[in-house]
Order: sequence, then structure tokens, then C-alpha cells
Amino acid sequence: MFDGVSSSLTAAPSVLVADGRIAAVRDPGEPLPAGVQVIDLPGLTLMPGLIDAHLHLCFDASDDPDGHLAGMGDDVLRQQMADAARRALRAGVTTVRDLGDRGYLALDLRDGGSGDDLLPTILAAGPPITTPGGHCHFLGGAASGIRGVRAAVRERAERGVDVIKVMASGGNLTPGSLPHEPQFGAESLRAIVDEAHRRGLPVTAHAHGPRSIADAVTAGADGIEHASFMTADGVDAPETVITAIARRRTAVGWTVGREPGPHVSPFPAIASRITEMIACRRRLYESGAVLVAGSDAGVSPAKPHDVLRFAADDLAAAGMSPAEALWAMTSRAAQACGVGHRKGRIAVGFDADILAIDGNPLEDLAAVRRLRAVYSGGLPVAPAPDAPAGVAVH
Ligand SMILES: [Zn+2]
Repeated sequence: MFDGVSSSLTAAPSVLVADGRIAAVRDPGEPLPAGVQVIDLPGLTLMPGLIDAHLHLCFDASDDPDGHLAGMGDDVLRQQMADAARRALRAGVTTVRDLGDRGYLALDLRDGGSGDDLLPTILAAGPPITTPGGHCHFLGGAASGIRGVRAAVRERAERGVDVIKVMASGGNLTPGSLPHEPQFGAESLRAIVDEAHRRGLPVTAHAHGPRSIADAVTAGADGIEHASFMTADGVDAPETVITAIARRRTAVGWTVGREPGPHVSPFPAIASRITEMIACRRRLYESGAVLVAGSDAGVSPAKPHDVLRFAADDLAAAGMSPAEALWAMTSRAAQACGVGHRKGRIAVGFDADILAIDGNPLEDLAAVRRLRAVYSGGLPVAPAPDAPAGVAVH
């Protein structure tokens, strides 16, 4: 068993599950309580369910997620989102954090809006706060001015979101929006963080350009998504900003993982900078920054909603050991998402989100793609078929 925090395996334990939680972890040979149902998984490795700290259930992983969304009513969209969540779960992603939906539909799903289907645990931001006409404005989260952004945070808090997502910079998905240019200035970001923290909500900021990353970190954002340090014609990651990210323990949500196949090319703006971006990731890793795995699943054909199982390849390319890559996809992602007390580990008191995989993931990260059993809150889920080898872009 890989428990989510160790760098070695535990030999042949028994994990006792009751009421959806892990009640005990016993050494081999220790007697089991009378009357328990025993599920024997010989030759397999147990590990915690994966946590995707950044996806979009409302995007359909097509070439035009925005266009498809535009013509779709909420009822159809909610069903499509439930299908996306089920696909993630079957691939072993037992917790997903939706960092941008339309109409708070991910909160509906989180709260049981799809009926009694077995879905992963869902954490959700609602529509991301953006500028009028800015990145992902079509999701309905535009706000402007200090009063406007504070009101946007309050609305989300009242709706019961788990996290505030703000588009600090432009993004690749939205025509007319430039990833390297800031959308919100330092003052607006400070107001958003202040308003959110007063309500006990964390903030994570989508930020590509160095200016936006620096502003979000200085404003006290709890997380930075992408952190590509993209400029108009390259990548520029000032040492002072990297140091600040590491010192302030700002969680960096790299959007990693691509499904192999005909659609593997990343967005052109990323493809042309990939070598510099990998070098920048290595510097962040070497700085000791808090790094967690999110996938941005849904935004393109290379990123279906179960793509997180390919993320370990990119994490390893940034310098992580297999154990560190697995932590970034389990316990560390759980901490960054505010559920570190109940997700991401196989330990007493944690939710019984447990995978059984074929192989030792500490020696072979591809083992996470050879699922033999998935349990979500102790309930069995039919696992996805084996996935082929991943493609890290070096
Ligand atoms: Zn995203």
C-alpha cells in the first residue's frame, strides 16, 4: 500500500472500512473483526484516490468548449457535467475541484443535483471572477471595480462555494484575451483575497504572466493556477517571484497531463514556450514551492475529464521523484484544496477513497493507469480500462 504521504510501500495491510471511512489499517496477520466482508486484492497495490485540483466539468474537452456551451441549456449541461465527473471517478479521480462552471452547476452536482449517482467528491468555485469581456467571461462571472469584485466574492460565499477562483490574467481559451497580460490589478486582487478570507474562503488565481503571478502572490492568494510565467514572446520567471511563492507557501497548481493520441498538441502559445516552461517548473520545484497536480481537464481534446492519470509524467519531467509526484496528486492536492484532513491518504479517519492498481507506483508511475478497483467513500466503482503510456512534453 502507498498511503499518500510515505516514500515506501506498506506490505500487505488490511484496510478496515466502515460508514465510508477508514476505520483501521492493520498489519498483515493481525486478526480482523468477526463478521467483516473481506475483499482480497492479491498482488495489487492500494493507494488513495487521485485528486484533480483543477478541472472544468462544464467544458466538453472538444476543440470548441465555449461554443458548445453557448447553445446548451442548464439541464442538458448538468447531465453532461455528471457524465464528466463519472468519467473522472472511473479513472480513479475520487475528488475533483471545479475551478470554473456556469450558473453554479458544479455546486448543484456537489449537493446531489444529479440524483443518486455515484460521483466523485466535488469541490467547486462557481463562475470564475473575471473582467467584462475577459478570460472565460462567457461563464457569467464578470465583475469590475473594487466594489464589484467584493460583491462577486460575497455572492459566491452566499452560494456556498468551496473556493474563489479569479482570472488574474488573460487565458488561452478566450479569443481577445492575452495570457501574459493582467486583467485585475494588485488592488482588485487584494480586495478579492480580503473579502474571501473574511468569509473563510481560500482564493486561487489563474495567472500566466509574471506581473499577474507576482500581484496574486503579494495579494495573499492561497493558490496560483498555471503559473506559466508567459510573456509576449517567451517565459520570464523572476527569482524574487519564485522565492516569494516558496516562502509564502502559495500552492502552485500546475495544469499537467495530456492524453496521448492524435490531439496531443498543447495550445500554440504553450507549445512554442514548452522548453522554457519546463525549465521554469524545475526552478519552482527546486525552490521548495508547494506544487500540486491539477489538469485543467475539459479545456481541449487532449484533456478529457480523466486525464489526471497522465499528470505524473509531467510532474516527473519537472524533477519530482515518483513519491513526490504521487503526493502532488493525493495528499498535497488535498491540502491545497482544504480537504487535507479527510482526503488524499489511506489513514484512520480518512474517507475510504481507495484504488487498487497493478504495480508499484513508486517504481512505475504508469501503474496508476492500471486500475483494478476503485472505491469512493467505500463504495465500489467500475474501473476504467488500462490507459496507454503517457506523453510528457520535454
Ligand atoms: Zn482552468
